[in-house]
Amino acid sequence: MPSPRYTREIPARYRLEAARCSGCSKVVFPIRRFCPSCRGEEFEKLTLSRKGKVVTSTVVHVPPDDFLMEAPYAMAVVETPEGARLMTQVVDCDPSAVLPGMDVALEFRLIRREGHSGILCYGHKGVPA
Ligand SMILES: [Zn+2]
Repeated sequence: MPSPRYTREIPARYRLEAARCSGCSKVVFPIRRFCPSCRGEEFEKLTLSRKGKVVTSTVVHVPPDDFLMEAPYAMAVVETPEGARLMTQVVDCDPSAVLPGMDVALEFRLIRREGHSGILCYGHKGVPA
């Protein structure tokens, strides 16, 4: 079974669903009950662009077990044009070339197999744009 957290985050992971706070316009991703900026509770839904810019990045050499085969790989905080920030793996390039300011497209990809049953977990990964 995929973890409850994974299931709960499917709208964000699969469709990049976010919300804009009606009070202060902050874009919240993934969607939460309260705005982290003004504690407001009213939001309008929006879907994030499937692109963004690397804000910061690192190369992972010693990964968690599920990602052993992929090391070394780049993890980055990517900011979309809407102002949402998400942590994502950046693939299809030399991990050391993933640097702040780099433009990436967010593509729907296989993230990992979960547990012994090999449940497939999908989400978005950055690729050089
Ligand atoms: Zn707010």
